[in-house]
Amino acid sequence: MSFDIQKLVRSHIADLKPYSSARDEFDPVEGEVVYLDANENPFYNGVNRYPDPQQRKLKEVIAMRRGLAANQLLLGNGSDEVLDLIFRAFCIPNKDNIIVMPPTYGMYKVLANINCIFLDEVPLSNDFQLVTKDIFNHISSRTKAIFLCSPNNPSGNSFHRADILSLLKSFDGLVVVDEAYIDFSTQKSLVTELPYYPNLIITQTLSKAFGLAGIRLGFCMASEEIINILNKIKPPYNINSLTQERAISALQDWDATLEQITQLIAERKRLFVQLKTISFVKKVYPSDANFLLVRVDDADKRYTQLIQNNIVVRNRSKQVGCENCLRLSVGTPQENQILIETLNRLSS
Ligand SMILES: *Cc1c(COP(=O)(O)O)cnc(C)c1O
Repeated sequence: MSFDIQKLVRSHIADLKPYSSARDEFDPVEGEVVYLDANENPFYNGVNRYPDPQQRKLKEVIAMRRGLAANQLLLGNGSDEVLDLIFRAFCIPNKDNIIVMPPTYGMYKVLANINCIFLDEVPLSNDFQLVTKDIFNHISSRTKAIFLCSPNNPSGNSFHRADILSLLKSFDGLVVVDEAYIDFSTQKSLVTELPYYPNLIITQTLSKAFGLAGIRLGFCMASEEIINILNKIKPPYNINSLTQERAISALQDWDATLEQITQLIAERKRLFVQLKTISFVKKVYPSDANFLLVRVDDADKRYTQLIQNNIVVRNRSKQVGCENCLRLSVGTPQENQILIETLNRLSS
């Protein structure tokens, strides 16, 4: 494999001179300084100043938790913004393609459509694993990136690490691995592989295990070269002050997060067992995430019945390989109890 990031980046992005904000040109310093450089309102209210455009404090905290250098991080307004930046930096509209493996997270396809990038779909196997032979057959000179999600949404399983590594080894485009659910998984993050694979981009989010979907914070981890390219095109102040503060305090209280993760995994295991006893449940798929994919006799019927009982789940039955499947998030112990009691009532 001959990987050269400068060959992958779109030429006008490589040549781009990024916007330079007031806060880029002068770093706030300790002590009494009169700031008259950013046309802010000077009256203090906690958020009257622009946030740090490079989110340095927050990056330090994430870097420490994930075990990499702060300059290997790019933060976004949710991982969806980070994914969009990857498309815009590397994929040439109406020319390049990406490969995705359905059933998977729907945003890769939507972002490809928004950015006019061709989408090549290579379905997962019956047990929702990567079919690497098929993927290799689909790679062409115009394939810029392969997007995979592990643990995968909506199936819940993790892909075999050896399969992901074989794609990383042999493909000289980008391999984007979405680890939104990694903290629920028995498999370790690929972050330790970053030094060995210059084509690896890992995305993560604070929306799931950290319980912060409302603040919108996602990030990607990659080589410093890739991060520098993405940094050039991100909106200058894309992470607001309140989000930065809240994210820092949550990341510093890892014990509290870990306690919730442990409880959610225990609840997932309990649900897994109990769902199997419901008469109309045909299969419960093994999950490494905080949700379960469940095959039932008639997904539309059961979905509607649950709604009538004030329980909202996701009907995934239109997705490839997910016929008659519902996706259930793991709730609080009390919510899960209500779910199980309702399903028992519906099945008798
Ligand atoms: C929920 C989810 C995300 C999170 O996206 P955010 O924009 O960070 O909230 C990313 N990828 C997958 C596969 C998800 O299921």
